[in-house]
Amino acid sequence: MAGIGLEPREGFEWSRVRWAAPNARRTDKCSYCGGALPVDYEAGFWLFSRKGYCATFCKACQTRWWGLECFDEPEDLPEVLDEADEA
Ligand SMILES: [Zn+2]
Repeated sequence: MAGIGLEPREGFEWSRVRWAAPNARRTDKCSYCGGALPVDYEAGFWLFSRKGYCATFCKACQTRWWGLECFDEPEDLPEVLDEADEA
């Protein structure tokens, strides 16, 4: 796992990661804790092994092990963008 510049936090166990086969259907479970992922879940973070196996993490695991936080997209984007278009 060298070379990506992102390391899991202390206590993370690589042996617990359930890697999905390269052509497997998209997983509906967290590859680490096994928790169910929402149907429309969009993982912000995927791990791929050199052989193409991939792992997905639920938001809790992303935050706990990788220090990543997810935010919902704002519903109202600033209208400043519209004005810039007209200029
Ligand atoms: Zn998880």
